[in-house]
Amino acid sequence: MIPAVMPTYARTDAAIVRGEGTHVWDADGMRFLDFGGGVAVTSLGHCHPKLVEALKAQAETLWHCSNLYRIPGQERVAETLVANSFADSVFFCNSGTEAVECALKMVRKFQHETGHPERYRLITCSGAFHGRTLATISAGGQEKHLQGFAPAVDGFDQVSFGNPNELRAAITSETAGILVEPIQGEGGINAAGVDYLKILREVADEFGLLLVFDEVQTGIGRTGKLFAHEWSGITPDIMAVAKGLGNGFPVGACLATETAAQGMTAGTHGSTFGGNPLAMAVAGAVLDEILEEGFLSGVQAAGKALHAEAEAIAAANPEIFTEVRGWGLMIGLRCADGVSNTDVVAACMAEGLLTVPAGDNVVRLLPPLIIEQTHVEEAATCLKRTCGRLRAQGGSQ
Ligand SMILES: *Cc1c(COP(=O)(O)O)cnc(C)c1O
Repeated sequence: MIPAVMPTYARTDAAIVRGEGTHVWDADGMRFLDFGGGVAVTSLGHCHPKLVEALKAQAETLWHCSNLYRIPGQERVAETLVANSFADSVFFCNSGTEAVECALKMVRKFQHETGHPERYRLITCSGAFHGRTLATISAGGQEKHLQGFAPAVDGFDQVSFGNPNELRAAITSETAGILVEPIQGEGGINAAGVDYLKILREVADEFGLLLVFDEVQTGIGRTGKLFAHEWSGITPDIMAVAKGLGNGFPVGACLATETAAQGMTAGTHGSTFGGNPLAMAVAGAVLDEILEEGFLSGVQAAGKALHAEAEAIAAANPEIFTEVRGWGLMIGLRCADGVSNTDVVAACMAEGLLTVPAGDNVVRLLPPLIIEQTHVEEAATCLKRTCGRLRAQGGSQ
């Protein structure tokens, strides 16, 4: 019999029922260091007092009013995002996939507005993940997500991630834009490097294309800059963000330059819940914390420390981990052939550490951005015990 909750996830049995800062507890009372963060979401840790206060205060004032009216919280969050990015304007939604969807629509609308309605196709990259709507699984192009959902939405041409020549060769008179994650998250913490991002900007300019970055996972401080593309010195025309923006309160945003957003006039796009007062109260408080002087340099320092620990553990356990990847606090441990990342994630959990599997047999470490040296050490201890546990399991087979 089908469970009451539709069984679309491969869930573990543990029920996480409480969280405080860097840790969560399951229904049996077991405590975990949360380096999964609900998949790069709870960047300020669980039940952060300032976020709790902001949400409570808004809950007692106004929950929802719809976008038929001005929402002061939206104006404040949008102004903060604009002041701290390339963007001139922001559309609010509720999730990452919706933020990407807005970006896709905006690319088509821009080309339509500027006399190129024939340009409607976007170039995307192998290994990409952009969400689970029909358009975004088509953009992501992953067979495992498309299987059984044919026909895919038309308008996406996929090239190898990190290969600028292939990308250039894929441009046709119908190409409207390029959609890329600066670091692929679900794909396995793959960074193509800052030079690749610079080339994407050049190519987009040369062919009149819009450059869209999906920073749903990399954005809001995860890599030690507010947005990962800042490491490259270039900027996109449009950017999707979500995960870390609400620290667990569902919210997404699509940021754009004035030029890219010129077609997004009244009535062209919308959302009932997008940017509602509760979401904006939380997102505003999140941004206040992350933009606090010294916060992002702290993320960079914590990232270096965790990366170094991970490197040392991988070097000491080459039969389990072959490579450490990533920037800031977005770290991937590539598992050796014959070692399954999901087994490693399960073993970490048994040792009190939550991690997240990703493509390419990678285990992701996506800790809260507020971690300190003690948490890095706690994670390292858990990872070392995990290696011991896996070795014992391997030996007993
Ligand atoms: C998680 C993710 C999405 C989808 O976000 P949802 O909130 O699950 O819809 C899109 N793009 C990237 C890069 C992501 O990591």
